[in-house]
Amino acid sequence: MKCVATSIKDIEDRAWVHHIPRLMVLSNLAMLADINPQEFLAWMRRVFIDAADWVMVPNVIGMSMHADGGKMSTKPYIAGGAYISRMSNYCGSCIYNPKLRTGEKACPFTTLYWHYLDRNRELLKKNHRMFQQLNAAKKLADIEATIAHGDEIIDGLERGMV
Ligand code: SF4
Repeated sequence: MKCVATSIKDIEDRAWVHHIPRLMVLSNLAMLADINPQEFLAWMRRVFIDAADWVMVPNVIGMSMHADGGKMSTKPYIAGGAYISRMSNYCGSCIYNPKLRTGEKACPFTTLYWHYLDRNRELLKKNHRMFQQLNAAKKLADIEATIAHGDEIIDGLERGMV
């Protein structure tokens, strides 16, 4: 995962990355993989040189992880690989393909994006800003295979293998 590896390397080198990799790559992955928001916040506090509570807590708990019940953001900030590909230059040199959601070359962000929508359908269905995405997930012909692949990725993440 070139986007994740680059962001982590930058943090190791400088204890800092721009807001976009924090939100679009790291927090997005944490959301899509159901990482505990408090544990993610603790990690962010540990690794970032500018981790002041007044900005880190609302940004991580509210904006990134949607763990404040939607008080700060009216919908979860989640995105698949196609969005990351459009907004960055990470994907060109990645072993994964941002357009694929199943198979060996499937981008984990893309697979997990659809997996997230499917597993949180009940929670999100009253949010009119999520209607389009939920509808699109429902229409995917390969949703079953995508869910199965997403389960494998989350399992791999939990075991530190992705
Ligand atoms: S293909 Fe997916 S994992 Fe690879 S860099 Fe792009 S968004 Fe990241």
